[in-house]
Amino acid sequence: MMTDFDKEWAVETLAVRAGQVRTAENEHSEPIFATSSYVFDTAAEAAARFKGELPGNIYSRFTNPTVRTFEQRLAAMEGGESCVATASGMSAILSTCLALLQQGDHIVSSRSIFGTSVVLFDKYLGKTGIATSYVPLTDLSAWENAIRPETKMLFLETPSNPLSEVANIQALASLARAHDCLLVVDNCFCTPVLQQPLKLGANIVIHSATKYIDGQGRCIGGAVVGDSKLVGEEVYGFLRTAGPTLSPFNAWVFLKGLETLNVRMKAHSDNASQLAEYLQQHPNVSQVFYAGLSEHPQHELAARQQSGYGGVLAFEVKGGQKAAWNLIDNTRLLSITANLGDAKTTITHPASTTHGRLSDEQRAESGITPGLVRVAVGLENVGDIITDLERGLK
Ligand SMILES: *Cc1c(COP(=O)(O)O)cnc(C)c1O
Repeated sequence: MMTDFDKEWAVETLAVRAGQVRTAENEHSEPIFATSSYVFDTAAEAAARFKGELPGNIYSRFTNPTVRTFEQRLAAMEGGESCVATASGMSAILSTCLALLQQGDHIVSSRSIFGTSVVLFDKYLGKTGIATSYVPLTDLSAWENAIRPETKMLFLETPSNPLSEVANIQALASLARAHDCLLVVDNCFCTPVLQQPLKLGANIVIHSATKYIDGQGRCIGGAVVGDSKLVGEEVYGFLRTAGPTLSPFNAWVFLKGLETLNVRMKAHSDNASQLAEYLQQHPNVSQVFYAGLSEHPQHELAARQQSGYGGVLAFEVKGGQKAAWNLIDNTRLLSITANLGDAKTTITHPASTTHGRLSDEQRAESGITPGLVRVAVGLENVGDIITDLERGLK
């Protein structure tokens, strides 16, 4: 639950301080509680804890002090009452859907979400009788038209990957409220440092902590943030039963990540802005997709809704797939991998990797052209990143 402490301090301070409960050892840094179970003083105490009459730890599938510190810190940063940490970003989405939806329910999702989320919705939730319709992220009337009487959830990511389209969270929150749906926002790209969807009216925030929260490409994890009923009871109830819980070690790595998240997100955003400007004036680049550019169609919305534009950008190289692959293959510093949210800059060709499963028609519809290249800008010197790209752009 949100404490008075959480209401008093700014997000940068919460990132360093929130959620810590010191043990009798007076440690300064948060310890890793590597324990699967907990002991009770008496049989009566054990009984009371199992019945839920006494608070306290029972088993680390349910609660663990290191995991709880991470949950409370992230909840404070997002401005949510409750947070449930999960084993991955995907299990955060799965847990949210299985806890809050049932057979016959319907989801409206933006088309431009993480590819595996589409597979989760269509193949696995589809099997349980939960159907999903997809709409263009920025088309408010398409969202409205897709809502049916059985629609229970609107789901989106903003900014989108890889084209950096920006959704109006406030407008979609009003739409969700008017139709008695939950608005769920995957906030992986911005993190609470750049965007706080709950404060704009969203009901639930999802994280893949694997990305910027870790920030150095080490651990897989996720989180769900929202109110104490939906998340603290319903999603938590699913998690303690089904078991995709976060390990204490990974929670500890993510706690350390949160402490530096603010300075890292600013540095990622600064580097990405400078790279976007460089690419924009390059004669062999026909278009740059980054919400920080004043030419971006949702630039003003992004400026209002976000406190920075993040580290991911995409651009269209003249010459199609051949030119894009040539650019990628000529890098010596950048990592050719689809991961993002790492200190190391990564470069990918979406049309043949992350979006390779789509038909040519679907790709054209989503704007994933053969010449498109995505860069998740890391924390190296931006001049060096530019030098590494320049070779292949000639
Ligand atoms: C990576 C990612 C996920 C999935 O997270 P995992 O931690 O890999 O399970 C979900 N949403 C977005 C936007 C992502 O980038």
